[in-house]
Amino acid sequence: MLDKRCIYCDTDNDLSESDIIPDALTNARITNKNVCRVDHNNKFSDMFESKVIEALSFITNELDIKSSKGKNYARYAATVKIDDVDYETYISSEKDLFNGRVLKSADKKFLMSSLERANEIAKDQSKVKPIDINTLVIEKTVNVNLEIYFDPAIFRLAAKIAFEWYCAKNSVSGYHDDFDNIISFINTGNCESPVSIVQNSKIYDFVGNQINFGSHCLLSFQDKQNRINVIVNLFGIVMYKVIVCNHTPEFCTNNLIYQELCTDSSRKEIINQSLMDTERTYQEYLTSDAHFIPVKLPNGITFMLPAEIPEVDILLYMFVCNAVRGFQEINDETVTPNKTIIDILLKNISRITEAALLHKKSIKRFVKEHFKAGHKPNKINPASSNKKDIFMLYILMVIGKSGVKKIDDNALQQIAKGAFNIGANEEILISDELVEKLKIGILETLEYSSLIEQGATIIEQWE
Ligand SMILES: [Zn+2]
Repeated sequence: MLDKRCIYCDTDNDLSESDIIPDALTNARITNKNVCRVDHNNKFSDMFESKVIEALSFITNELDIKSSKGKNYARYAATVKIDDVDYETYISSEKDLFNGRVLKSADKKFLMSSLERANEIAKDQSKVKPIDINTLVIEKTVNVNLEIYFDPAIFRLAAKIAFEWYCAKNSVSGYHDDFDNIISFINTGNCESPVSIVQNSKIYDFVGNQINFGSHCLLSFQDKQNRINVIVNLFGIVMYKVIVCNHTPEFCTNNLIYQELCTDSSRKEIINQSLMDTERTYQEYLTSDAHFIPVKLPNGITFMLPAEIPEVDILLYMFVCNAVRGFQEINDETVTPNKTIIDILLKNISRITEAALLHKKSIKRFVKEHFKAGHKPNKINPASSNKKDIFMLYILMVIGKSGVKKIDDNALQQIAKGAFNIGANEEILISDELVEKLKIGILETLEYSSLIEQGATIIEQWE
């Protein structure tokens, strides 16, 4: 029987399963079972996790990530402009605006609500102006506050993620003083910080090109001083470098570890002893005759083609090795805001707000929020600036038009591929130009409203 003890305090009493990345921040759960329930699991939530979850609610909402415990997507603060009046509100979806709520304008002079609710409130019925949600132009502004990325709370969260993940991948049980510094940083936040923010734009570009849109990514490696570094990449927006231990612990054999957690719940993983070990794996694979067959081209050059579908993800191995080499060489980090890191954060955040990922979760959510029982037929407002809505309505119309009776992941990707000429699971950047094209595409289609309804029904029935 394996000895199971808390990695923070060594107790074997009341152990629990800790979500390494808080449940509200990911659709792909990873856990560490050697964490005691109260002091080193539940208490972290109030100490630093909930502050980060709250501050990142707009990001998780945009990426269709929600807590498995909660029914709804996170709410975030937004300002909406309707008929030139600003209303400050707290929403989970733009459809929330009129779900029986009353909005008060920023200058407190106006109230806005759906007709039904307005009738209840207004004493003089003649003063109530009916609104048509379909033709209303709503402009939404969200203030993106970057302070959270430099906050002690997110530094402690990054340290917690790095430590629990590294321990889980090495089956560490019980307290070890090798991890003294990081444990007291997570517990108190008061000692020397093992966390800094990577601020090299070349590394961000290199990693950003490889990982999936909105993914979290964790990478453990030994640096030139043999310390254990873990890179915690949150949503592809920001990378924290965490020194988990200032030497390589003798009881840990897996020191080159990589894991990507995607927003559609899928994941990729490499676990190896060291960088050398990983490089050897793919080099042996590439040089082995068994995996490649020579093909002579007409110009006399011999080309090696893979003999079968490789069982080793060569490109992933090469990416991870190159990334580690990059992190070992370039030590360019900060703990405070400056122009370089601010530019990186803004660029990555705007990519998230301008792109859409089409998968089961995102399209089912859209249909659930926009096609409630008894809703009015969808009319496209030519002046609408809501890019993601136009994009989703267009896809529903294409599904309706396709005549399919049932849909699955594969069929959805095929339809998206046909409509947008993209590969499976690639994100789609919704530029102003694309939105205009989609709008015209919808408006030029006769019966678009009923085609959209058909598409929505097919998505609703998707089990
Ligand atoms: Zn404990």
